[in-house]
Amino acid sequence: MDRCAVCPKTYHCVGGDGSYKSDIFVIGERPGQDEEKYGRPFVGQSGREFNEHYLRLAGLCRDDIYITNTVKCGADKNKKPTTAEIENCAGCFLPHELGDVSPTLVILMGATSCSLIDGLDLEVEHGIPFKGELFGWSGWICAMYHPAAGMHRTELMIPLRDDWKRLGTWLQRPKEHDSGPVVKDYRLAKSEIEIKHYFWDYICGPDELMGVDTESHDHEPYSIQVSIQPNTGLMVQLGDPKLEFQLSHHIKPHTLVLHNAPADLPIVEELMKTWQWATPPYRDTMQEAYQFQNLPQKLKALAYRLLGKRRRSWDEVVGPPSKEKLREWLIESLIKAESEAQVIEKFGKRGQPIKPEIIRHPLEGKIRGLMTHTAKSETYDPWKRITAEMDEKFGRAPHKGVKWVPTEELKDYGINDASDCLELALLFDRMRKEIVKKEWNIAEEDQDEVKAYA
Ligand code: URA
Repeated sequence: MDRCAVCPKTYHCVGGDGSYKSDIFVIGERPGQDEEKYGRPFVGQSGREFNEHYLRLAGLCRDDIYITNTVKCGADKNKKPTTAEIENCAGCFLPHELGDVSPTLVILMGATSCSLIDGLDLEVEHGIPFKGELFGWSGWICAMYHPAAGMHRTELMIPLRDDWKRLGTWLQRPKEHDSGPVVKDYRLAKSEIEIKHYFWDYICGPDELMGVDTESHDHEPYSIQVSIQPNTGLMVQLGDPKLEFQLSHHIKPHTLVLHNAPADLPIVEELMKTWQWATPPYRDTMQEAYQFQNLPQKLKALAYRLLGKRRRSWDEVVGPPSKEKLREWLIESLIKAESEAQVIEKFGKRGQPIKPEIIRHPLEGKIRGLMTHTAKSETYDPWKRITAEMDEKFGRAPHKGVKWVPTEELKDYGINDASDCLELALLFDRMRKEIVKKEWNIAEEDQDEVKAYA
């Protein structure tokens, strides 16, 4: 087998194994000693774990798949591949292998192969197939923990087993039909009547659940989003007493569903207190997820894993418009700083004018530096470098926050959270019922009695 440009050439290269007719293409990390000895991937200890345990849980066997590695050669002590090795070796072989096999599903096992896809978060996305691209190939991709992870970290054993079992069910699913995009009804209330309309349109009884989320900007409450039916919701920007009164009036009869209540509840409490109403009872989906044990706790991860909804993070939504706002402030600050530069006329021995000395404002260089780094690097955080001295001199720098996000985008982002809270609470109720029915094997008529424990 050929070698890639950065191959250390200390070990044999081990190519892929399996039929080119396979529909399923599995990518591991790099061969170990056993693989090197036998010239086949996944024949050592983790290979046995994979072949005999995980593949079977999905109803598969080794003959059903084509299997290969991200990096084709071994390394001393199974050292993790470097970025250069991954880029070179994977880029050299995988495009051809994918082209030859032309699978419908690619399974990425472990963090190394997952790193082939930008932004893939194994902890959040493990076990859930999604549509994606890899070296020009496109189709279903599924990220899995590496089978060796289950041997070294026993807490990963259960999610690993669950993921492979779920993949088996997914493989048996009926042929794809496109159910079309989810129809959402998200509204930004600008008047009292618009608030009333939402509650008229989605009437629900007292004590029923209401998903709630809040946004703050620079530590000040900015908006409240509510949802009384999944995929619908209302955003109310705070500050107008008439809108606030109307909203609190509609919040009053519900049981609220928040995610990480300590972050949002004080804002709701403050609103209710203004009109001398008690804050309704609430549920916290973050705590409830924790009680289910094998679930992630972050809302976006839960939405992805349980509701199949890929949500943008706060940073993704708020970062770009905030940087734009900051850029405007930096330009204005630079103009001010430049205008304060002192030009000192200089004269030669015979009194002739020579190049003047320019004494620049001490903050000018810092502002320029901030502008350059912000423009050059996406990961650079300019807010960390803004000093009190700059704020004092040029007027307070705009803080990173929701206020700069275009309203439509913010409405979508905020109501997604409220609607997801509601949908998760409804799902958790169904999951609890399932547990009582299936695992505790309790007859329907006795279920009321055990509700308190479920
Ligand atoms: N682990 C891998 O990632 N690949 C192998 O081939 C063997 C173990």
